Amino acid sequence: EAARRQYPAQAIVDLRALRDNMRHLVDMVGGSDSPTAVMGVVKADAYGHGLLPAALAALAGGATWLGTAQSHEALLLRRLGIGADRCRILTWVYNGTAAPFDELIDNDIDVSVGSLPGIDAVAAAARELGKPARVHVKVDSGFGRNGFTPEGFEAALAKLVALGKEGTIEIVGQWSHLAVADSPDVPEFVASTQRQIDNFNEFTKRMEQAGIPPKIRHLANTAATLDRPEIHFDLTRPGIGLYGYEPDPAMGTPSKYGLKPAMRLVAQLGTVKGVEVGHGISYGRTYLTEEGTSTAIVPLGYADGIHRSASGFNIDGAKHVSKPGGPVRVMTKQGPKVFHVSGRVCMDQFILDLHGSAAELGVAEGDTVLLFGPGRGEEFGEPTADDWARAAGTISYEVFTCLRNRIPRLYE
Ligand code: PLP
Repeated sequence: EAARRQYPAQAIVDLRALRDNMRHLVDMVGGSDSPTAVMGVVKADAYGHGLLPAALAALAGGATWLGTAQSHEALLLRRLGIGADRCRILTWVYNGTAAPFDELIDNDIDVSVGSLPGIDAVAAAARELGKPARVHVKVDSGFGRNGFTPEGFEAALAKLVALGKEGTIEIVGQWSHLAVADSPDVPEFVASTQRQIDNFNEFTKRMEQAGIPPKIRHLANTAATLDRPEIHFDLTRPGIGLYGYEPDPAMGTPSKYGLKPAMRLVAQLGTVKGVEVGHGISYGRTYLTEEGTSTAIVPLGYADGIHRSASGFNIDGAKHVSKPGGPVRVMTKQGPKVFHVSGRVCMDQFILDLHGSAAELGVAEGDTVLLFGPGRGEEFGEPTADDWARAAGTISYEVFTCLRNRIPRLYE
């Protein structure tokens, strides 16, 4: 209630949904007795859902690993009390060689190496600390981002073998990331995922030949956890699935796998008022009312992370155009109705054209409206983050991770 009075919008996170989604993902790899473990990917503040609550919910749902991109989030999890007895943590993106490898090793956090300077930096920290670093060797199987390519791998293996022998590092894993696993219906993408798998296996062979067989191999994100059991290997790394979405909305919103979106973004309406036909709405007059109507202010803007590209237009100069903005569900006397962002999203607010009289609709200042939540999509009066992603020309991942801290996260 306090958050409702102090903040005009709230992101409400359903912890049970997070836990159940993880249970579901664990079931997809064969349950808690399966040789395949599941990592809850909680990077970027758990895709905007809140690092610690999401991490705890993932563990409650059966994850035995947590993963973060940046070191500080991995360290934060340990400092917040998620000890090494509770779960393994892997972190993978570093600020070059100037990363806190000493702290990471000291806190029993597994680290990734994917470059020669990276190996040197981890080894130096482990030597200084007198404690071996647990490393996962990142290979570039075709994503074109982090990791060793076949050309540089001989030199890396030589270093890794030597460091393993002297006890400076323990090589525990080999891993890679898929580029297009979320498009199972596109033949070129299926072929390119297969090439990535073949390359991944080839890297494993070379590690085995060098005498350092990786114990924990991992490649699968949410898409592959759901759809490609043959590449679950020893560990899978779902992110978006934990939060209740499938990587590609074409895979199904709501999820055909029964995942439940965990976040509801709600706001209380600001000014609701009548306006005449032909009234310009918001900056740039990109939306003109087409009838006498009412408008309502939603107190969220691009400073909150609402994409400006989710603006809605009906005029471009003198020309009529139709670009609907992001959807918002409003409870009216006639039941729930979806209206769209009308005109440009501003820094702190956007405007809805209610296409009728607010009094007749029974819509008033202070009413709670829903931008997105669990449900079947805006055509059913239940907008989701995928609908916002479509309106903004992006993906649900960006919709969540852009939400700023000005929107309090409430947990239920
Ligand atoms: N593994 C790595 C290395 C990632 O960067 C990510 C996220 O981008 C994931 C796993 C999780 O991917 P997804 O959210 O598609 O499941």
